[in-house]
Amino acid sequence: MSVSGKPPYDPGNIFARILRGEIPCKKVSEDEHALAFHDIAPQAPVHVLVIPKGPYVSAADFHAEAPAEAIAGFWRAVGRVARELGLEEHGYRLLSNMGEDAGQEVGHFHVHLFGGRRLGRMVP
Ligand code: ADP
Repeated sequence: MSVSGKPPYDPGNIFARILRGEIPCKKVSEDEHALAFHDIAPQAPVHVLVIPKGPYVSAADFHAEAPAEAIAGFWRAVGRVARELGLEEHGYRLLSNMGEDAGQEVGHFHVHLFGGRRLGRMVP
């Protein structure tokens, strides 16, 4: 734990390693703010992860600490990826697990993008 009581960013996490090109991913797209790649264990016909380039553990850190330009660029990238994957017509779902109780496993903020079929009702 850091002084502030939250876990520090671990630069050895798997998404940081993907960003550095140390391990491969099935890339969907990339720009200066975000990298999008297919989830290794897809839960829907389309299951893509979108991650910011900066070192943020979770949604809470990202939104509290990232520069406004990085936040805007990230969310624009999420929208663009969904559009480029052809998901806008029928819709899609965005999800981000924040912290232990939500089941966040990888300590680099990421948004899951699900689509490609009619999705079930969201239950906690
Ligand atoms: P959860 O596994 O509970 O959804 P997260 O929200 O932290 O936890 O999501 C991590 C996601 O990263 C999982 O969907 C997992 O399948 C995916 N994943 C793990 N390793 C890789 C990898 N090397 N390439 C692509 N996706 C990965």
